[in-house]
Amino acid sequence: MIFLNLKYILLINLVPVIMFAKDNCIFCQMAEKKKEVEIVAQFEHCFVIKDQYPVSPGHLLIIPYQHTENWFTSDNAVKEEIIRVLDKMKKLVDDEYHPDGYNIGMNCGQVAGQTVMHLHVHLIPRFEGDMDNPKGGVRGVIPSKQKY
Ligand code: 5GP
Ligand code: ZN
Repeated sequence: MIFLNLKYILLINLVPVIMFAKDNCIFCQMAEKKKEVEIVAQFEHCFVIKDQYPVSPGHLLIIPYQHTENWFTSDNAVKEEIIRVLDKMKKLVDDEYHPDGYNIGMNCGQVAGQTVMHLHVHLIPRFEGDMDNPKGGVRGVIPSKQKY
């Protein structure tokens, strides 16, 4: 008889992650613990890391364990958890960095600038004076269209 101790529970949880992991996907490798990364927080469907090249201090990435390309290919359960996690991480970043605002971003598809083809949500704290004229915010994905 197999006793369901912590080791087996962890193993069972990792099975779907390993089954659906994409080769050469850096976030799958993190989810499978094949690539070392500092985990900021862990939840049922997703984990949170600091962005390696932060746009601003406190820039976080919320990433589902299971590989899916983007928001539109993802399960509702994952999406719902990400929405809750965004609020939790906002409080955490508020406490540590005291930003004045936020951008929340997802690049869905290479043409939209996605470089890691595994769903992740950017939580980007913004600070007074971090750029000359921030008007337009995420409209800046096409720089000539940012200001209106
Ligand atoms: P994308 O352009 O796909 O939306 O963003 C990918 C993000 O992942 C980038 O902001 C990049 O800095 C971050 N990133 C890529 N590789 C790593 C990594 O190995 N570790 C961490 N912490 N972040 C990474
Ligand atoms: Zn992946």
